Amino acid sequence: MLKCSFCGRRAAYNRRYAGVLLCDRCMVKSVERRFRRAMGEHRLVSPGERVALAVSGGKDSVACMHLLADYCARKNCELVAVTVDEGIKGYREESLPIARENAEQLGIEHFVVSFKQTFGATLDKIVKLAKRKKTEFNPCTYCGVMRRSLLNQAARELGADKLATAHNLDDEVQAIMLNYVRADFSRLYRLGPSYPPREGFVPRIKPLREIPEKEVALYALLRGIKVHLGVCPYAGGIHTEIRDFLNRLETNHPNSKFMVLRMFDRMKPHLVEAVPEFEMRKCEACGEPTSSTVCKSCELLHGLGLKREQKTLISFKVK
Ligand code: SF4
Ligand code: ZN
Ligand code: ZN
Repeated sequence: MLKCSFCGRRAAYNRRYAGVLLCDRCMVKSVERRFRRAMGEHRLVSPGERVALAVSGGKDSVACMHLLADYCARKNCELVAVTVDEGIKGYREESLPIARENAEQLGIEHFVVSFKQTFGATLDKIVKLAKRKKTEFNPCTYCGVMRRSLLNQAARELGADKLATAHNLDDEVQAIMLNYVRADFSRLYRLGPSYPPREGFVPRIKPLREIPEKEVALYALLRGIKVHLGVCPYAGGIHTEIRDFLNRLETNHPNSKFMVLRMFDRMKPHLVEAVPEFEMRKCEACGEPTSSTVCKSCELLHGLGLKREQKTLISFKVK
């Protein structure tokens, strides 16, 4: 029997990048410790703040909700959950009840905002329109841009001081690599444990940024947390290629993902010179913050003959 490197009980996980084995108890404790360390080291939340967490119902966001609920209770903060229903048939309608169920179990207020109500079309319809119109954009571009916009608006309307997302180490390293490949300095510069406030934007925080995806999944499993395990039907393309490449790299050279992250964090302060200064304005079409005359969501919608129909989101409160 392989034994835990810390307590000698039966090992449940081989943390290859650190050269240690962990039993179920030490694994749970270790993830919770890392989460608290990230919260404290980067001062992600201050006592008395209101935190809005984006919860899809998947393992990362639900695990993050459990960790944040405990943390916020200790720090006298308030946690609310926001789910974006993009309108992806066979996927989101399964994950949404799991998000709701976990929020109810933790006594957290849960809000749902949807593409259909805000933009007049589900993501499924947007994808069909984009195909018909032969636009250059893939489903994840529409989904990502519009989801970010809705989350920010919902968090702002809810009076949140911070908007938390459950990006794990793998997500963050994939984003770093993707922006390298695309040479996108502005997006690269926006990565990190937190993103400072700018007019109209709720500061974003990523409490799971230093926890590998596998460990978040195992944490949820070991704690018996109910999560949605489905895969989005639109997942694929360059994101998947980069994910597979990084997983291969990590298998052959353990600790590679952490090294990419650490290197990026050291380089980030120097990137500021490469990022053009811009002034924040209000989108002429919807009023949301943007650095252009029209925000990216409205630009994408316009290309499909759609527009933002619903200006206020929080009336979609669940409960
Ligand atoms: Fe949206 Fe793409 Fe993620 Fe599916 S895989 S939820 S389309 S960003
Ligand atoms: Zn142990
Ligand atoms: Zn707009």
